[in-house]
Parts: sequence; C-alpha cells; structure tokens
Amino acid sequence: MATIILKPRKEESLLRKHPWVFSGAIYQCPALQEGDMVCVKSHAGDVLGVGHWQVGSIAVRILAFGVETLPADFWAERIRAAYRVREAIGLVRADNNTFRLVHGEGDFLPGLIVDVYADTAVVQAHSVGMHRCREAVAEAVVANVPQVQNVYYKSDDTLPFKAPVEGEKTGWLIKKVGMPAPQNAEQPEFWSVENGLSFRIDWLRGQKTGFFIDQRENRALVERYAKGKDVLNMFCYTGGFSLYALRGGARQVDSVDVSQKAIDLVNVNVARNFPSCTNHTAVAADAFDYLSAMREQGHTYDLIILDPPAFAKHRDAVKNALRGYQRINAKAIEMIRKGGILFTFSCSQAVDKEAFRLAVFSAAAQVGRNVRILHQLHQPQDHPINIYHPEGEYLKGLVLYVE
Ligand code: SAH
Repeated sequence: MATIILKPRKEESLLRKHPWVFSGAIYQCPALQEGDMVCVKSHAGDVLGVGHWQVGSIAVRILAFGVETLPADFWAERIRAAYRVREAIGLVRADNNTFRLVHGEGDFLPGLIVDVYADTAVVQAHSVGMHRCREAVAEAVVANVPQVQNVYYKSDDTLPFKAPVEGEKTGWLIKKVGMPAPQNAEQPEFWSVENGLSFRIDWLRGQKTGFFIDQRENRALVERYAKGKDVLNMFCYTGGFSLYALRGGARQVDSVDVSQKAIDLVNVNVARNFPSCTNHTAVAADAFDYLSAMREQGHTYDLIILDPPAFAKHRDAVKNALRGYQRINAKAIEMIRKGGILFTFSCSQAVDKEAFRLAVFSAAAQVGRNVRILHQLHQPQDHPINIYHPEGEYLKGLVLYVE
C-alpha cells in the first residue's frame, strides 16, 4: 500500500482522532489515483492510520487509526457497531423500520451514508474511495442487519464531480429475487414505516436517499403541539411533518413545496395513513410566493414549520444564506396567530447554531413581535456527531412561541 509522510508536528490532529488529513500537512506522497487506500505516517515514521486518498484540500479521510492496513473484518465490524447503536437507541421496532445506519464520520466511516427503509438499504458514497468499497459495504450490511435483504446504490449526485470513476454510480448492489428495478415506472410502491406512519420511498427519483430521516424526532415534537391547530408545513417534501401533525389532531394541515413530484408523494402518503382525511391540502408553490399570497389574503396559522433546503452549500455563501433565513422567518412570524408556534430549521452545515439564531432573532426584531425560544433542536441520534469531528453537526432548529 502507498505511504504518505506528514510534515513535522502535523500528526497532532490525527492523534486526537480527527479523521481528515489536509493536503498542506503532507511532506511526501507517491503518485496516487483518487480513491486509493493509503497508509499515513508521521515525519518520524510512526504509523497513524489508513484511509482513502482524494483530490482537494482534504487529502485523506482516515478509516482506521493506528494500523497499516484494514483488518479483514473491518466492514463487518463497523456495520455491526453502527447497527448496535440503532438498536440501543430504540429505532429497530415493529412500528419503525426506517433509520440511518451509517452517518459518515459520525459512524467512523468517512464518506459513507447508509439509510435503511424496511428490507432495503440505500447507500451513498461521497468519496471515490467509498465508491470502490461499495460492494464490501453492501455485503456487510446484508450480513449484519437482519431486516435488510436488498442494497441499492445511489451516488450520481454525491461523488466528486470531476473524479474519474469506474463502475455504475446507480443501481442494485444486492437484490433478492422478485425485487423490481426502481427505474421501472410499473414498480409496486415501496413503503417504509417511521414511528407507525407509512411513507412511500422513491429513492431513485427522490432527493437524497429518498426521505429525510433526520427530522424524525422533530416531527414527533410537532405531533405533540398540533392538536386543534391550523398548521402550515412549508418545504414539506414527502410530508413528514404533515403526517405527524394530522396524527396529533391538527384541525387543518396545508403542505407546500415547489416540487410537484413531492406534492404528489405527500398526497399518496396522506391517503395511505388517513384514508378518510378531509383536513389536508397540498400545494405546489414557491415558499416566498405562497407566504406573500397568504398574507395578502389575511390568512394566518397557529403552527408553521419551515424546513428549507440548505441555503448555504459552501462557506462563501453564508452571508446570503443568513439573509435568506431572516427573510423567510420574518414572513412566517408575521403570519402566526397570537400564541402560535414556529418550528424553524437550517440544515446548512456552514451556518452554525449562533449564526442561525441571530438570523431568526433579526427576523423577530424586524416583525416586532414578542418571541420566546421553547426548544433548541438538532439532528437525531442516528445522525451522531463524532466528538473529534465537530464538522459533523449540521441540522439545527428553534421552536418559537410567538405573541
Ligand atoms: N421537511 C421535509 C424536508 C424538506 S427538504 C421532510 O421532513 O421530509 C427541502 C424541500 O424544499 C424540498 O422538497 C424542495 O423541493 C423544497 N424547496 C426548495 N426550494 C423551494 C422553494 N423556493 N419553495 C418551496 N419549496 C422549496
């Protein structure tokens, strides 16, 4: 295996178990292909660990510390450890077969995401190294997660854009007999259960791996507050928050998303879980347009959920993102009835908790209402943050009481 030697004293972050080697820390390195497995050594020659080489400012993502090669049972051991956590936190139940099994660095597998939906796992590689390991990952998942029999691979949008990659970026890695190709428009609908609610998962055409598992706990909190309320679920995607609000006894739920495909899925999900429902409407519209139109009509809500896509995908977009968060939150706060509640989120990793809170504070001040923070929310337990890798924290939310 190729060896990389670091500059003097550049081993310190690795000794603290931070899993990234930046290109500026490298003293000597042979010619490498993106995705190669490399051994990293200190300037003095001590073995620091093995990882995947990649082109860019993060040059190596460490898979295992203190070893020169990966142990033979590496993938099985890591997947078993990840599954043990999901069992321990109570996510593997008759009424819940939807969870994130692997959350990258948070499960000591940098560059890898595995989401489980009923008997199928959807795998996403964010590095060429993980792409090359996809078959080993799939085998380890099927061998160690009892409910999983199929593994679908979906990495078109997540692999580094310029990297030359061998093999398919999308398709079945493991498929039991009779499982339809998801490309097939005639495929039977595929369903997964979260906290007793059924969701249709369309991983091929859907965003990410097909569903936003990361809002599960926050959706459950909406259910607690929904009774008798008029609810707006803005940026609803497949309607996660809407279903919990309906189960919580909301008077009316309006779901809004700019994507008609998402709106179609919300309607399917509502019909499946609440066949005789008459208090839900789903509208395909731009968030800003919808809020402006409702405001002109004098429409108000008791409870609004704002869960927009990441406004800042990179550090240099943070300023604009903060303006966007302020604008959308101000519009929502204006439309909340006295004594109403706003659930507001940011999933931009580059926008930290304090900056997001400041944007929401600015929105409240702009509108001039009394606003108090009831809850500060974050990503759930199956999206753990490796304490040595604080960059893994991305989802934050505030629940506000608006007077
Ligand atoms: N709350 C959802 C996840 C939201 S993801 C859940 O719990 O599953 C963000 C969503 O915002 C996507 O579905 C995307 O289609 C939608 N979106 C993006 N831009 C939008 C806009 N300008 N107006 C309305 N929806 C938008």
